[in-house]
Amino acid sequence: MKQKFQEQNYEIVDFDDIADVYVINTCTVTNMSDRKSRQMIRKAKEKNKNSILLVTGCYAQIAKEELENIKEIDIVLGNQEKKDIFKYIKEYQTVKKESVSDILHEQEFPEFGVITYTDKTRAFIKVQDGCDRFCSYCIIPFARGRVRSRKIEDVIREIKEIAKNGIKEVVITGIHLASYGKDQNESNLLIELLKQVNEIPGIQRIRLGSLEPTLMKEEFIKELSKIEKICNQFHLSLQSGCNDTLKRMNRQYTKEEFEDGINNIKKYFEDVILTTDIIVGFPGETEKEFNETYDFLKKIHFYKMHVFKYSQRKGTKASEMPNQISAQIKEIRSKKLIELSKKNQNEENKKYIGKEVEVLLEEPEGSYIKGHTSNYIMVYVKRDESIKENTIRRVKIIDIREEALIGDAC
Ligand code: SF4
Repeated sequence: MKQKFQEQNYEIVDFDDIADVYVINTCTVTNMSDRKSRQMIRKAKEKNKNSILLVTGCYAQIAKEELENIKEIDIVLGNQEKKDIFKYIKEYQTVKKESVSDILHEQEFPEFGVITYTDKTRAFIKVQDGCDRFCSYCIIPFARGRVRSRKIEDVIREIKEIAKNGIKEVVITGIHLASYGKDQNESNLLIELLKQVNEIPGIQRIRLGSLEPTLMKEEFIKELSKIEKICNQFHLSLQSGCNDTLKRMNRQYTKEEFEDGINNIKKYFEDVILTTDIIVGFPGETEKEFNETYDFLKKIHFYKMHVFKYSQRKGTKASEMPNQISAQIKEIRSKKLIELSKKNQNEENKKYIGKEVEVLLEEPEGSYIKGHTSNYIMVYVKRDESIKENTIRRVKIIDIREEALIGDAC
């Protein structure tokens, strides 16, 4: 959206500055996100009463009636309409305007037609929108609609362009990446896409965004491992290690199936790093269920776990479930898992002392340059004249510091 404005010679200023147009791209994943968006809306209009205030994103998509009643807002746009944002700004006169399509019936990937905003070394490329899973705690399918995959040729065109600008690593992302191609009845489209990305000169690493465990069948992993530039790091959202909890979450896999997927990955990828997301305090999660999750997590030994305390989201099945868990219990469970995650990461990092790894050097920080290994461990490399940003260097690890490794270039 920023680039759409830049193309029209608009100057982008900080959100706290006085502006002619304010765009608030909202999130709605929790009730708290909605509240924060409302606060931002009021804050923006206070800065310049004559500005055009446009609200878009997931909150705008699912709560347009609510937003219609907020007098500060001039334009409300749904997720599918975002790509035409400038047209709506240009056409705006003085009367409140709203355009939010029925996203559950949208069939096209919302193609922005701009090159993804990137940092110097890594670019995030979104190839898929929407989700058909309807996990019981999640509002996303209502805000993002059904699965829509981006055309391979559009993705390749964009990556070729960013590779020309020197980007070395791409992260392929989506709302539910495992469903890429499903809307076109193509089960192997993700592999096909990745094979084509692999051929693009200049791109040296391909990383995958969050994946669903059901994708991790042996056949898929085997095909993936043949793609030379795929990184040996995967983020698989487990959410719970207890089958009863998973069932209430409507996650559509068991912990045994998840473990099979992990074993498949370990069979085909060396030095693989696995990370995950876990929700604690899901409605009805008993002490016994939580302990089952804890034991399972200990067994799998993820490098890092992102722990979320379950948050009641209006409009989802889980928010209506009985036996909601108290904030105090959620806090205790969350702390326990965060401790386990830190312990795992520390143990894993220690194993690297004395070893050599390849690091994509990203940005200077004091007397170091920060970068990442192919399995996405952060490394601080001591700076000297021979060390250049945006190159891959062999580095000998000499120490660890908090979540990162410290090394000297070889
Ligand atoms: S798979 Fe992910 S995005 Fe889809 S409903 Fe479940 S949690 Fe939400």
